[in-house]
Amino acid sequence: MSSLPPSAKLATRERLSEVRYEIRGELARRARELEAQGRKLIKLNIGNPGAFGFRAPAHLQKAIIGDIDHTDPYTHQQGLPAAREAVAAAYAARGTPHAHPDRVFIGNGVSELIDLSLRALLNPGDEVLVPSPDYPLWSAATILNDGRPVYYRCDPDNDFLPDPNEIEQLVSSRTRAIVLINPNNPTGATYPRELLERIVAIAAKHHLLLMVDEIYDQVLYDDAKFEPVAPLAGDHPCITFSGLSKVHRACGWRVGWSVLSGDIERVREFLHAMDLLSALRLCANVPGQYAVAAAVNGPDTISALCAPGGRLYETRRAVIDACEASDHLELVRPAGALYAFPAVVGDAARGFDDHAFALELMESEGVLVVPGSSFNVPYRHHFRVTLLPEAAVMRDVFARIDRALARRAEA
Ligand code: PLP
Repeated sequence: MSSLPPSAKLATRERLSEVRYEIRGELARRARELEAQGRKLIKLNIGNPGAFGFRAPAHLQKAIIGDIDHTDPYTHQQGLPAAREAVAAAYAARGTPHAHPDRVFIGNGVSELIDLSLRALLNPGDEVLVPSPDYPLWSAATILNDGRPVYYRCDPDNDFLPDPNEIEQLVSSRTRAIVLINPNNPTGATYPRELLERIVAIAAKHHLLLMVDEIYDQVLYDDAKFEPVAPLAGDHPCITFSGLSKVHRACGWRVGWSVLSGDIERVREFLHAMDLLSALRLCANVPGQYAVAAAVNGPDTISALCAPGGRLYETRRAVIDACEASDHLELVRPAGALYAFPAVVGDAARGFDDHAFALELMESEGVLVVPGSSFNVPYRHHFRVTLLPEAAVMRDVFARIDRALARRAEA
C-alpha cells in the first residue's frame, strides 16, 4: 500500500481554526453516534421548527406549489421582482425609508446574506461590533471575511441589554459596522426604542453601517414590543435582515431577504458590491422565492403561537416555571425569539464548565443543549435550549436538567 506524501495533505484555510459553530459541532456529532447506538435523545440544539412538527403556513405552501412550473430558470441575482417588490412594500409600510425593490436582496437564507454583506463591506483588519452573546454566524462570517469581531456586552444583570456607552468606547478607526440582533438569539432580549435610538446615534456619529438581524421580529411574548431599526436610522445606512425560517417556520426552504436603507449617495458603492457578489452565486433557491410575497402580504400566523394557549407561549411558560422552581437555575425571561438562555447558579455552579456539563447531560439524561460559551461570551455557566418542543416535553427536559445539576451540587 502506498501512502500519500505529506505534501499531498489537503490544507485548510488558517482562518477556519478561529471559527466555531457549536450548535452543529462536536456535541451534535456525539449525539449522532449515540443515536446510531439506539439511544433516544431530546435534541434542543437547533431552532429548526420543522423538526418539532411545525409546518409552513398553507398559503406559503400553495404559493410554491402553484408556481412550481415557473421555477426552473435562474432569477435576477437580487431575486424575483415580485418578491422584492413585496418586501419593499412591506418594509415601506413599517416605516423603512428608501425601501425600494432595487435595494432588496433575496438570499438562500439570512445566513447567505450575512456572509455576502460582510464580504461586501470589510477590508482586512476591519472591525465589526458584535453582541456578546451573539448568534455565532455573525462572528464566523466576520472572521472569514478577514474582519475582526469586537464584542459589546449584553449584560445578564440588565436583561441582556447592551450599554450604548460601552459600545461607543469600543469604536476605533477600524470599526465599520454595528451588528444588532433584535429580538436576540440566544437571550430573547428585545430592545426598547430609546436604546436603539442611542445606538443609531453612535452609528451615525462614527459613520458605521447598521447591520440589523430581525429574523425573529414577530416572535414576541407577553407585552414585548418590537421596534424596527431602519425607520430610526432614517438616511443613515442600515441593512435589515429577515426571512421565512422562523416567523414563517420554513427554514428548510432557505429563503431570506435584506433591505438596504439610507441615503443613496452613502450606500451606492455597497449596493454595487452586494449586486456583484449576488451575481457570482447566480440567484437564491427559486421555488422558495415564490413564497416571499405570500409571506409578507399574508395573514399573521405566528402571534397566536406566542399568545396564552399557543404552543410557543406554553413552552416558554414551562421553562420559566421550571427555572423559578429550581435551586440551580436562573433565567432572564425571553421577551422574544425561540430560545431560553438559563444560568447555572449556587452549589451546582462550583467549577462549572458548560461544555463538559452539556456532554454529561447528554450521556446521562439524553438531553442535548448548546453550551453558553458557544455564543461568544467570556463566562461558562449558561446553556441554550430552543423553545420549539411541546410544553410537556420541556417539563420533562427541565426535570432531567435539574437532576443532573443536583448531582453536581451534591458532589
Ligand atoms: N440570524 C439569526 C439570529 C438566527 O438565529 C438564524 C438561525 O437560527 C439565522 C440568522 C439564519 O437564518 P436562515 O435560516 O434564514 O439562514
